[in-house]
Amino acid sequence: MVRRLVAGLIVAVVSAGAVGLGAGASEAAVRRDDINSDIVTAVNSTNRFWAVHFRSLFGGTYSAPKIFGGFSRAGRAAPFCGNRRLSFNNAAYCGRGDFMAWDLDFMASGYRFGDAWVYLVIAHEWGHAIQARISGRLVSRAVELQADCLAGAALFGAAKDRTLKFESGDVEELAAAFNRLGDRTPWTKSSDHGTAKQRLAAFNAGAKGGVRGCLPKQSAQR
Ligand SMILES: [Zn+2]
Repeated sequence: MVRRLVAGLIVAVVSAGAVGLGAGASEAAVRRDDINSDIVTAVNSTNRFWAVHFRSLFGGTYSAPKIFGGFSRAGRAAPFCGNRRLSFNNAAYCGRGDFMAWDLDFMASGYRFGDAWVYLVIAHEWGHAIQARISGRLVSRAVELQADCLAGAALFGAAKDRTLKFESGDVEELAAAFNRLGDRTPWTKSSDHGTAKQRLAAFNAGAKGGVRGCLPKQSAQR
């Protein structure tokens, strides 16, 4: 979904450039180059959104989580979070180390269906990093659904800030991504991710209502 408009723009964690969400669904093959540049763009645009908006939303100073980046069965080993390694076929925010990491094969598996996938995964994990940075009373009991909501707020917020540009097909890709990520059963406890439908609804709540739309009702006014 997202592609840089300006070649050679980034790599520093914060970038000011505009990027376009290309027609990812039409890309037949996954090329590491493309996925890597989408990952960089997703990291940069999500970080930039939070760097710009964190203080006015929550007060205090925003600090970016560390990015460990990719690991894989065949390549770089998964990092430890506390005393256990992160598992394959997933992406994670590790609170103890305040870092984000992902299985590159997991990223590639969803990327085949469109580049929106990596934006969603990274913005979701970033949502967990934000949860770790704000008052506990602002963290929903449904932590996973709130992370989806914060992902929607950050990606659509970045589009509003013109650091990301959505193109047709992206919204459908996001819905399809939730179909692959959703639990089989509805949300009941904090470790649940929720069904695809619940996850998409949470994402859309953030996309439409912004970050404040992701906070528990009684604490929404700050
Ligand atoms: Zn999560």
